[in-house]
Amino acid sequence: DNPTLLDIDPSKLTIVRAEPHVLKTIPPPETWVFGQSGSTDHMLIIEHDPEMGWSAPVIKPYSPLTLDPASSVFHYATAVFEGMKAFRGPDDKPTLFRPEMNMDRFAMSAERIALPPFNKDALLALIKQLVLVDERWIPSRTGYSMYVRPVYIGTRPTVGVQASTHGMIFVIMSPTGPYFPTGFKPISLMARHDFVRAWPGGTGEYKLALNYAPTFKPQQEAASQGYQQILWLLGDERRVTEVGQMNFFVVLKRSDGEIDLITPALDGTILPGVTRDCILSLAGTHVPDASSPSSLSTSTRPIPRLHPQERQFTISDIVSWLEQGVLLEAFGTGTASIICPVSKIGWEGKDLILPEYEEGVGPVSKALWERIVEIQEGRRESEWSVKC
Ligand code: PMP
Repeated sequence: DNPTLLDIDPSKLTIVRAEPHVLKTIPPPETWVFGQSGSTDHMLIIEHDPEMGWSAPVIKPYSPLTLDPASSVFHYATAVFEGMKAFRGPDDKPTLFRPEMNMDRFAMSAERIALPPFNKDALLALIKQLVLVDERWIPSRTGYSMYVRPVYIGTRPTVGVQASTHGMIFVIMSPTGPYFPTGFKPISLMARHDFVRAWPGGTGEYKLALNYAPTFKPQQEAASQGYQQILWLLGDERRVTEVGQMNFFVVLKRSDGEIDLITPALDGTILPGVTRDCILSLAGTHVPDASSPSSLSTSTRPIPRLHPQERQFTISDIVSWLEQGVLLEAFGTGTASIICPVSKIGWEGKDLILPEYEEGVGPVSKALWERIVEIQEGRRESEWSVKC
């Protein structure tokens, strides 16, 4: 570590605003599709080189990058990314949802592939500036937000196989609408053990781009057989790990009538999801929650009493829980959908059918989903909601 290298310095930020006549027309929110509604007007860029350290940050009109073809990222997949959302609170001010968790994960991912370190607080301060520059893209409308995608790539311009001493962090954003615009639609899963997403000693707990490309082919295969996502199994015992790009939870009825909420433990093969952490914390609060009074009016139902557990389980456990009739709900969690209910799991040529609910979502999933949305949209006070 060279102490003379410059760290990211938000006080050196330059903002080059797009000329009014090139500002994009915001498409009508009804047409927004998650991840497919283009970009906002501006982006943030900061570059690292081994002599100087981090360059003065720039927010400028969204535009293509120019990179040396020898750049590390094109050859050795030195790329990490994050995903979080900006919301508009009832006071009209933009907020980010638990952004420190994304910054921590971003830094840990970068560290895992030996990209140059950066100051997380400084980066977050700059992301807040970027959100403010493009805040007109966040509608004050429930279910709508602005997706923020930080990316960090290795730009060392030589093909030698080694850590990238050069790097570029850029942040782009896009408008995003509700994942389930017309009510919950539970998804079908195809369980696979032959394609493996992550393995012990591997990189599953980091958000590296290289974890994602190999999932596209099995995902296409699942789609061609009528399943929407893959349930990733691991090892001879067929441990359940994650679903598509989401963490996985099951809701189980115990013999004493209490309810367990179980998700695989963070054993290195599981991405530590922000939403996963929210669900575990909310489940641990054992609402009715006189503990978190709110001055704002809250409309959501109390979260049922739950016993959250982080532990391993296998596809055979799912089979036997279903046979015993104790598996009440299963769902994936992630920034995009928050909670995505599961209707069936294809496994060994048969479909395991999960309980069906009138609204497409079980009561535990629904209560947790409502609570998180309420916090994200600022209708319930919480330190998870961070002003820009
Ligand atoms: N697992 C994987 C593999 C993911 O890519 C994501 C999305 N970041 C998640 C889980 C959910 O994480 P989060 O709740 O932080 O979006």
